[in-house]
Amino acid sequence: MLLNSEQIISNHRQVLDRIALAAAQYQCTPPQLLAVSKTKPASMVEALYKEGQRDFGENYLQDALEKIEQLKHLPELHWHFIGQIQSNKTKTIAEHFDWVHSVDRLKIARRLSEHRGQTIKTASGSLSALNICLQINLDGEDQKGGIAPADLPELAQQIAELEHLQLRGLMCIPKARANFDEQRQCFAQLKILQEQLNQQGLELDTLSMGMSGDLEAAVASESTMVRVGSDIFGARA
Ligand SMILES: *Cc1c(COP(=O)(O)O)cnc(C)c1O
Repeated sequence: MLLNSEQIISNHRQVLDRIALAAAQYQCTPPQLLAVSKTKPASMVEALYKEGQRDFGENYLQDALEKIEQLKHLPELHWHFIGQIQSNKTKTIAEHFDWVHSVDRLKIARRLSEHRGQTIKTASGSLSALNICLQINLDGEDQKGGIAPADLPELAQQIAELEHLQLRGLMCIPKARANFDEQRQCFAQLKILQEQLNQQGLELDTLSMGMSGDLEAAVASESTMVRVGSDIFGARA
């Protein structure tokens, strides 16, 4: 069932309140809110845009491209690709998105960089490097994408060197945990990986972690970007 825009605006405010409350409680900087609008119509994105929301996350390319086209008149609207990346889609992603959170292979990163370079050259505007997060598979789940922590130091170094990408940080989609403390411990691992990479000389400023069900634990673990879908837009079909 689709919620109406009044309900979505009210949900959005509640999510912002939850973030602010958790940040105050755990004495952390409140993370940015990425509103995950996958499968939801452009009109809902526009309703939140009018509320000041500027960053939206999408998983499905075709669905996203239609919305991006419909909303291209809105300035400062930032699109984040957070879904699995097929290598024949890297050109389209590099052309239409500002961020990609789900990079987990060098081959994909190289293609994104190459295509972004071509897009920068032909664009008349002020396009810059594509912001990248590396997706980390913290739970060693075979069916999920993501880099094994052991492979991260070398891969991050290689991706950081690609010309038209800006390596910003790490992202995770952990499996459900039984309680807050376990959620928090899980997110703390991502924070440690970030610190290790920064000691190695990288400059990562982003931890993309926390979703509807675990955003408070992510805030407590110093998330800089929470990705919230269903608690704003309602359940997906
Ligand atoms: C769908 C999705 C989200 C949002 O999940 P909710 O539980 O609906 O908040 C966040 N991140 C990724 C990668 C997703 O695919």
